[in-house]
Amino acid sequence: MFKKILIANRGEIALRIIRTCKEMGIKTVSIYSKADADSLHVRFADEAVCIGPAPSSESYLNIPRIMAAVEITNADAVHPGYGFLAENSKFAEICRQSGVKFIGPTAEMIDKMGDKVTAKETMIKAGVPVVPGSDGLLKDVKQGIKIANQIGYPVILKATAGGGGKGMRIVHEDKEFESAWESAKKEAKASFSNDGIYVEKYVEEPRHIEFQIVGDQFGNVCHLSERDCSIQRRHQKLVEESPSPFMTPELREKMGEAAIKAAKSINYEGVGTIEFLVDKHRNFYFMEMNTRIQVEHPVTEEVIDFDLIKEQIKVAAGIPISGKSYFPTLHAMECRINAEDVCNNFRPSPGKITSFHSPKGPGVRVDTHVYAGYSVPPFYDSMIAKLICKARTREECITKMQRALDEFIIEGIQTTVPFHQALMKDEHFRSGDFNTGFMNTFDMDKCKEEL
Ligand code: ADP
Repeated sequence: MFKKILIANRGEIALRIIRTCKEMGIKTVSIYSKADADSLHVRFADEAVCIGPAPSSESYLNIPRIMAAVEITNADAVHPGYGFLAENSKFAEICRQSGVKFIGPTAEMIDKMGDKVTAKETMIKAGVPVVPGSDGLLKDVKQGIKIANQIGYPVILKATAGGGGKGMRIVHEDKEFESAWESAKKEAKASFSNDGIYVEKYVEEPRHIEFQIVGDQFGNVCHLSERDCSIQRRHQKLVEESPSPFMTPELREKMGEAAIKAAKSINYEGVGTIEFLVDKHRNFYFMEMNTRIQVEHPVTEEVIDFDLIKEQIKVAAGIPISGKSYFPTLHAMECRINAEDVCNNFRPSPGKITSFHSPKGPGVRVDTHVYAGYSVPPFYDSMIAKLICKARTREECITKMQRALDEFIIEGIQTTVPFHQALMKDEHFRSGDFNTGFMNTFDMDKCKEEL
């Protein structure tokens, strides 16, 4: 087992990893930027190294500086968390060449799944259903329009390097194609320095249902059931839950099998997520694979009583998994609490938290790095906490979530708590009748009533 893990991340996930390391008797090293000197991940690690100024490019994304911190602290493994360098194959390869274990898949596996077009091709070969669309990248608008007519509108243009919902445009007819193409390309170039675009059928009224999988170094892969992440704004998740209200035992069996097949086709090692779109007829299509731990992993942890970070570290250390799949016996749900003003179009709301009280009690978990007096820096992701509730049924889980949200006190900044309070009252949400388009019709004025 590793003796010392350096955590190449910040915020709640860094803290989450420190907690498991402590329970496993592994020493931890935090890295931090000058903007994060007061963060709890700095305080709770055994050692902490300041690696640079606030901008990510000079700190959390700066590979030479992170490798220098690995060297001076003599860490024998690196945990990348999510975001930042978690899916950067160059970083994984540099770790390997330096004799430090990257807790995650190899550079080769990351590359096979990192680029969406390559991932889709790999899945077609493995016999996993994918959304119908172009065979690889589009050359130009003319070719795009031709394919759009073959598969039928609406279609969606997607950046092959995409992430965080960027570089995607829905197109309903020929005459919209060119401007959507231009803006998707521009956004992809600015966000990923890669403007490769492909097109696929826009699945209407889809649900986003993903499967958590774990693979070890010996070719065993199991799944840990699904998470429904259909409540999204601009393709970014706001709420996740397990089991999916749309799931049936037959569908879970089929999707779980496809998820395992997908991971096995690249001999996947580590924890990962296979994302699918499911249409209203319960047809499902592979969308992408995330080769890392995800923000919403606690939903799975709660519903099947499992420590996914521990599993991830064990797999990286060469310990085999049992290979058996797990099924939810409870219901769990996560609300992402972001420093955003929901009454002003989710505008970021960084600043000093003057008062902070997080909900507690049976079945309530809060993963957060913030506290009263903490200043939310404007440089990074706006997520400040994850509120996770579990109960025996979905209905009880929603009631518990409402109780927990009412107990959440965060003053000094605006947060997404009022949105979640309004959502929990929504009839469509409560009845499980929703898809990824839910937010297009949700009445945001309802949030004002919660303030
Ligand atoms: P990212 O990597 O940027 O998160 P994804 O490929 O995971 O992008 O897609 C994010 C979201 O975009 C999905 O959850 C879904 O809501 C929507 N989406 C993507 N592809 C399609 C499609 N073909 N049809 C309908 N919705 C889609």
